[in-house]
Amino acid sequence: MILEAREISRSYGRTPALREASLEVGAGEVLAVMGPSGSGKSTLLHCLAGIFTPDSGEVWFDGRRLDTMSDDRRTRLRRTAFGFVFQFGQLVPELTAADNVALPLLLARTRRKEAYRRADGWLERLELDGLGGRRIGELSGGQAQRVAVARALATGPRVLFADEPTGALDSLTGEHVMELLVGLAREEGTTVIVVTHDARVASSADREVIVRDGRLTDPYAGEVVR
Ligand code: ADP
Ligand code: ADP
Repeated sequence: MILEAREISRSYGRTPALREASLEVGAGEVLAVMGPSGSGKSTLLHCLAGIFTPDSGEVWFDGRRLDTMSDDRRTRLRRTAFGFVFQFGQLVPELTAADNVALPLLLARTRRKEAYRRADGWLERLELDGLGGRRIGELSGGQAQRVAVARALATGPRVLFADEPTGALDSLTGEHVMELLVGLAREEGTTVIVVTHDARVASSADREVIVRDGRLTDPYAGEVVR
């Protein structure tokens, strides 16, 4: 297992968002997390990615306990081992596509020339050849989201977390972005955890789990009854 949640719970004030949720994710697995709005999917993703710590339970990444790690170590791990594709906000709109992809590489101390060479390679793999010099604001939604995928994969993460990555796109464009994301992740051996409402997106995953009212259920194992 590369990533594991053991009975994690998390509340916002008095609102429970996750209730003793357990999940095991194998290395290289592409996992879809589905469930109704407000069921706890984002909270689960944030806990697995070490962005939030659960109130109780344990999160393990590659033999290391994530939830009790110091903030410094967890932040460093997030930068080096995890990639993120969220629906909004992680691209810098004033910068070009190439700048955005090169940025995490530069932060990881890759030399400038090499960072841009690799950024161009990733843009090409996401069918964005020739668009490296465009500002994000000058790209279509589908193009911008492919830049976000390029940026997330450029640092070679072990796990890619995606939260409704295609939610703002029309369904054909969204499907294409997901196809590229899953295809490249498989080539790289990257584990993918994707939160989605879209059954077609989920069907490109190896496995799906459903979050209902803060609890995880496996659609093929029947409901969890408590
Ligand atoms: P999903 O991703 O499935 O829509 P979330 O994990 O975002 O679900 O939310 C789970 C529950 O926690 C919901 O009841 C939601 O209203 C609540 N919640 C999420 N974030 C916050 C927050 N920052 N403050 C208060 N309640 C929150
Ligand atoms: P996609 O299917 O990827 O969403 P679109 O059909 O929306 O693509 O866009 C088609 C073309 O129009 C693209 O080459 C894109 O660069 C260009 N384009 C879309 N929106 C804008 C914009 N706001 N400013 C400049 N060019 C744009």
